[in-house]
Amino acid sequence: MVRAGRSGLRVAVLFLDLDYFKTVNDSFGHATGDALLVQVGTRMRSILRENDTLARLGGDEFAVLLTDLADVDEAVSVATKLLTSLQASYRLQDQDVYSGGSLGLAFYPDDAQDSDTLLRYADLAMYQAKQAGRGAYACYSQEMDRRVHEDMQLHTRLKEAIAQGILKLHYQPQVDVESGAVVGAEALLRWHDPVLGDVSPSRIIPIAEATGLILPLSDWVLETACEQIAAWAQAGTPLRVAVNFSAQQFRQRNLPEKVRAALERTGAQAQWLGIEITESVAMTQPEQAREQLNALVALGCSVALDDFGTGYSSLAYLKALPVSKLKIDQSFMKGIPHDANDVAISRAIIALAHSLGLTLVAEGVETDAQLAFLRQYGCETYQGWLFAKAMEPGDLTEQHLANQTCLSELDFEFELAQ
Ligand SMILES: [Mg+2]
Repeated sequence: MVRAGRSGLRVAVLFLDLDYFKTVNDSFGHATGDALLVQVGTRMRSILRENDTLARLGGDEFAVLLTDLADVDEAVSVATKLLTSLQASYRLQDQDVYSGGSLGLAFYPDDAQDSDTLLRYADLAMYQAKQAGRGAYACYSQEMDRRVHEDMQLHTRLKEAIAQGILKLHYQPQVDVESGAVVGAEALLRWHDPVLGDVSPSRIIPIAEATGLILPLSDWVLETACEQIAAWAQAGTPLRVAVNFSAQQFRQRNLPEKVRAALERTGAQAQWLGIEITESVAMTQPEQAREQLNALVALGCSVALDDFGTGYSSLAYLKALPVSKLKIDQSFMKGIPHDANDVAISRAIIALAHSLGLTLVAEGVETDAQLAFLRQYGCETYQGWLFAKAMEPGDLTEQHLANQTCLSELDFEFELAQ
């Protein structure tokens, strides 16, 4: 670095981590894993120049030091060559084994002025490359560091928010397309942090999942939604509340027991609890998902498949799952009625659901034209800003439920009179 500084050149640190190395160790044994590491070292060495430094840092992590670089592109070109050479198969125990790598780059003097920071930044960039889908490289950017600090701060504050009971559930009404009556509500997480302001669930959930906070958070959501179900039932305005189950929450072995206990503690009846899991959660391990869902349905809950159409669904499994509803993802609603693809996909989802005996909820409905489309093709229920945003439970009771009870009582009296 001192030499580069004097001559106005750059130094690059390349941080490489093998993809799926653990799988190789687990399936072929550690001796084979070690043999793979030796071959990786040989391949990397063959790409590098005489005066480049290659090191194995530990495990399946390697680092390369490139010195006297005129520009950044030289290092990127080395990174690309390294990744390409690692992608070819390895011959191990008479078998072809594949284990590419993910690589991060950081530069002196551009990114950092000392070696510790440079190495840390290269590692951070490697982590980004992994997250972006492996087998690729990423260059460090200040944005990455900012993101890591933000995530750390978010994690700390989320932990406090859970402990202090600052989080809230808001409820977005689900409305009958034909009658306009509120037939249910989706419970959605709301967090207003005194320092960070409003933090959206799309930021909260990944942090919670990465840090293990997702399970206590999920427990709290379930418990709070059940309390609300019981409160609405007691007030004479019972309403089905849909709760989103996260992937980790859904895979807990004792989940049905947890749900049963939450219902019992709060006095909520299972028939008013709807469970939403995403298509990808249901389809990743469909056999386990089916068992889990069967146990939940046996309690009396109903299940909806969320974000339908955005993941991969096996139709055979879809038929076998005890699901009663599909939720059409809001990304398809956006293009209705003018985008021919969105129209075709939404119509196909509606037809598919009906032929399997399922009902539908459309998400993200914002215009009258979208509602007219849903009415025309027989989608039963919708939610979205056209009707209402998610709101505090008290507001939902006041604005919609109280009113509606009067209406249904009137209907009832009318029927009696007839
Ligand atoms: Mg949902």
